[in-house]
Parts: sequence; structure tokens; C-alpha cells
Amino acid sequence: SKADIGLIGLGVMGANLALNIAEKGHTIAVNNRSTPKIDAFVEQARAEGLAERVLPEADLAAFVQSVKKPRSIIIMVKAGKPVDDMIEQLLPLLDEGDAILECGNSLFSDTQRRFDYLKPKGIGYLGVGVSGGAEGARHGPSIMVGGSKAQWHDAEAVLTSIAAKFKGEPCVAWLGEGGAGHFVKTIHNGIEYGDMQMIAEVYGVMRDGLGMDAAACAGVFKRWNEGPLNSYLIEITGHVLEAIDSESDRPLVDIILDRAGQKGTGVWSAIAAQELGVPATAIEGAVAARSISSRKQERIAAEALYGKREGKVDISIDDLEKALLAGKIVSYTQGFSVIARASEEQGWGLELATIAKIWRAGCIIRSRFLDQMASAFAGDAATNLLMVPDFAELMKEASPALRRVVATGALGELPLICLSSALSYFDSYRQARGTANLIQGQRDFFGSHGFEIEGRGADLHGDWPSLVE
Ligand code: NDP
Repeated sequence: SKADIGLIGLGVMGANLALNIAEKGHTIAVNNRSTPKIDAFVEQARAEGLAERVLPEADLAAFVQSVKKPRSIIIMVKAGKPVDDMIEQLLPLLDEGDAILECGNSLFSDTQRRFDYLKPKGIGYLGVGVSGGAEGARHGPSIMVGGSKAQWHDAEAVLTSIAAKFKGEPCVAWLGEGGAGHFVKTIHNGIEYGDMQMIAEVYGVMRDGLGMDAAACAGVFKRWNEGPLNSYLIEITGHVLEAIDSESDRPLVDIILDRAGQKGTGVWSAIAAQELGVPATAIEGAVAARSISSRKQERIAAEALYGKREGKVDISIDDLEKALLAGKIVSYTQGFSVIARASEEQGWGLELATIAKIWRAGCIIRSRFLDQMASAFAGDAATNLLMVPDFAELMKEASPALRRVVATGALGELPLICLSSALSYFDSYRQARGTANLIQGQRDFFGSHGFEIEGRGADLHGDWPSLVE
């Protein structure tokens, strides 16, 4: 008999997704470029008692034939060219009405291009964002689906069964056409960058400004995980901080090199935000912070030049908790504004409440906060979280602490690239009369770009002095 679904690419994510699918009672055909991975996968499936639902097929044509029509074929290979190559290999083997579900971390514009390319050929294309890492893939990821709606229904039962559940509600949704799913996944990752950076900044205040050791910091994060900051990232931060390196007997975090890696989704989010004209300073700050972190040698030289910061600062743990909450509100405000704007521009019709809902479990940014957001967006048409009443109340309560932390950090020479930009965004956003009047004056001075005066009209010019000698 034929398989319910097929999957190509038995790497870390593919293998775990395939086991999850088999575990939920579906039969799955699997294929991988190199055959040893297929054998290893079959071995693993056997060990987990799932082998009878797995149909391994090393030959691509035979693999396609082994899947029920209309076919849903997941590809989970390295993002980029391997995906295009795989599509070309599959094309002659597929029939009209079949669908490719590409589940890697693809650039949404690539997904849009592939969707447009396959549409006239009658092949459905779904760009699917999968979050939750290997563990999520195996036991329940958050799944952001974009692309061909008709073919989404063919795969809906399988994807719903493997998705994470939040109080019984599956964390999966078809969000919109074309690249919508991968766009939302990209911004998810951008928000994740912001969360991680703001957590790291607060850790920096505790470590360098308050002189707390890793164990003491771990204790704080554990406590915070019981309150409004309750989230996967706060929880794992506690675990990371308390781990001890068996070789040196020191806290592991104290010996890990302070150089962060990045694979692209943060940068894509920042670029998308800029291109859409939506400020996303938290994401941009987080990307910048990772870039600075990677320049270890330059930082060593700069510290030698400008001197090492020293001394304690005076700030309470309670303020740090509230500052993190306020920073988070700003960061999510920005991320969701980017999504809302992209949706308008692309005509995706994205629902912010649905996105908050499917992020409540399974994904890296899952949190209590997102549950509050899902409810807030469901009852409000605002796309800027700062203007949603519940969050406005939270912000009013938490922003003074953010201000104290940023001020203390600035005077104490503690870098707070994300938290300080969050505060500046907030202060800019709520300032009815800003300072762009001066910018407009400057622009008109050097380039005759014109300015507007209420009651007198637009495209006015100043009688500027000539600076030519
Ligand atoms: P792995 O490196 O574990 O596996 C990569 C897979 O891609 C292997 O099956 C490999 O096949 C296959 N592959 C690579 N190049 C080609 C090619 N040219 N043609 C055919 N197959 C190819 O990667 P992951 O499972 O970690 O990641 C897969 C995707 O999922 C990526 O887009 C990644 O960004 C995304 N992702 C990863 C997450 C994670 O936490 N790891 C989380 C969410 C998404 P072979 O065995 O023959 O080399």
C-alpha cells in the first residue's frame, strides 16, 4: 500500500519530523540523497517501534510512486540551491495536483518565486516554517504554512497531528499564499534574536554591574520563569547558567567563547523591516550585537584603548525583570508591525491573532506573553501592540524600570543595544511632535526637497542663505 506522505532529506530536522509523522499513525515514504542516512533512519524507526509505517526508498522515482495521490512531498534539505535542485528533480516525477512542502528555513522571496514557478505547472507549493529545533520536530513544532491553499488541505491532517498543542489547540495554520509562511517564520526568528539579546543584556548587568555569579543569575531566571516572563527562552537560560563544566568544574557559561553565530534569518528580518519601512530596532540591535560579538580581537584591542569598565551599579532585580518585559513588548510590537505591513503589501491577509496563537507552543519564542497577545489581538483591530489596551497598561507599568535600567547601563558603561533602542523607539513612538521638522529643513536647504506647513500646504521651500563664498 502507498504512503500518506513523503519526505526527502533525513538530516536532523527531516528525520525527527518523519518519526513524529510515523508516531502519529501516518505511513511515510522517506528518501535522502545519501543512502547511509536512509539506513540509519530505518534503524532508528525500528528502535522506536515505528518501522512498519516507514517506506524507505533510495530511488527518487520509486519514492514518488510510493506516495498516495494527490501527493504531499516534504522536502527538508539545506536551504538555498539544494531546494531548487530538488524541485527540478521532482518536477518530471510529479502529477498535476501534487504538492511540494518545503519545510527548511528558506528566504521567503525564494519561496514566493518557487510558488509562482510551479503554479502554472499545476504543482502546489507550500513554504512551511517549522520552529522548535530538533526536539520540536520530533515531539511537536510550531508550523507556519504558506502557499497553495488547495493542497494545504491535502496535508492538513498530517501537519495538524504532528504540531505542538497549546491547551489542546494545534500550533499550525495556513497563513497566506506564496511566501507568507516563510516570511512569518523569518520574523519569528528575528523576534527570537531580540528576545535572546535582551536576555543576554540583562545577564550582562547582573554579571558585570551587580557582580553576580552564574549560579546567582540562574536563580533569578528560574524565579522569573514563574512570573510574567515565563517562556522557553527564560527557562533554558536558567539551565544554561547553572550548567557546570566537568573538566574545569567551572560554570560552563563562564568558559564559552562570547562570539555568537548566526545563519541568516535575523539579517533577513532586519532587511525585510527596512524594506517595508517599518522600524524594527530590537531585531536590528540583536543582529548588530551578534556581529559585534564576532569581532573578538577588535573588542580586545578597543578595551585596551578605552579602558576596561569597572565597578558596581545600583539597580534592582525587580527593575531588570520589568525592563525585560517592557523591552519585549516593544520588540514584539515591532515584529508584528513588520508582519502587518508585509501582509498589506503582499495581500496575504495575515491574522496577527492566529500568528500569536500558533507561537504559543512548539517554537523557540513560546511564552505566556504570546497567549496574552493572542487574546489582545483577537479583541482589537490595532496592529501596533503598544496601542492595544492590555499591553498599554503593561507598558505604563514596566517602562519606568526600562528607563532606569537603560540609564544605569549607560552611566555604568554596560552595553544595552536592544534595551536602549527599545526605549528610544517607545519614546519616539509616543512623541506627538518629533524632530523631523529639522530634518525636513536640512533636506530642503541642501536639496530643495520641500517641506509642509499645516494650513499652508506641502512642497514649500525656505529662503535659505547661500553658503557659497
Ligand atoms: P542537516 O544538515 O542535518 O541535513 C541536511 C539535509 O539536506 C541532509 O539530508 C542532506 O542530505 C540534505 N542535502 C543537503 N544538500 C543537498 C543537496 N544538494 N541535494 C539533496 N539533499 C541535500 O540540516 P537540518 O536538518 O538541520 O536542516 C534542514 C533545514 O531545516 C534547513 O533549511 C534548516 O535551516 C532548517 N531548520 C533547522 C532547524 C534546526 O534546529 N536544525 C530548525 C528549523 C529549521 P545528505 O545526507 O545527502 O547530505
